[in-house]
Amino acid sequence: MADCIFCKIANKEIPAQVIYEDEQVLAFNDINAVAPTHILVIPKKHISDMNSVEEIDLPLIGHIFKIIKNVAKEKGIDKEGYRIVNNCGELGGQTVGHIHFHLLGQRQMKWPPG
Ligand code: 5GP
Ligand code: ZN
Repeated sequence: MADCIFCKIANKEIPAQVIYEDEQVLAFNDINAVAPTHILVIPKKHISDMNSVEEIDLPLIGHIFKIIKNVAKEKGIDKEGYRIVNNCGELGGQTVGHIHFHLLGQRQMKWPPG
C-alpha cells in the first residue's frame, strides 16, 4: 500500500526502532509511547484492520501473538504483566490503517479503558 505509514516502516522507507523482525512480522517502538514499554507489532502484509482479517491470515495472526509473548519475555515484563491492545475503526480509536497490536507494559493498567 503506497501511502501506508506502517508498510513504509516494514519496507524500511521510514526508520523505526526495531525490536524484532522476521519474514512476516515487525515489532518496533511506538513513536508516542503511552507506557514505559510501548511496542507495536505488525504483519508486514498490509491488512487494514481486524475486520479485514481473513481465514488465510489466521496463522499470521497467531504468529503475531507468539511474537508478542516472546518480546514480553525478552523485555522482562512477562511476569509482572502487560496489556495487548488492538484498536479497530473510528470508535475503536484506530489512527493508522494497517493492523497493529500495542504491547504496553511497566505501568499499572486500569479497566475499563477510556
Ligand atoms: P492506533 O491509534 O491506530 O491504535 O495506534 C497507532 C499508533 O502508531 C500510535 O500509538 C502512534 O503513536 C503510532 N505511530 C504513528 N505513526 C508512527 C510512526 O511513524 N512511527 C512509529 N514508531 N509509531 C507511529
Ligand atoms: Zn500497510
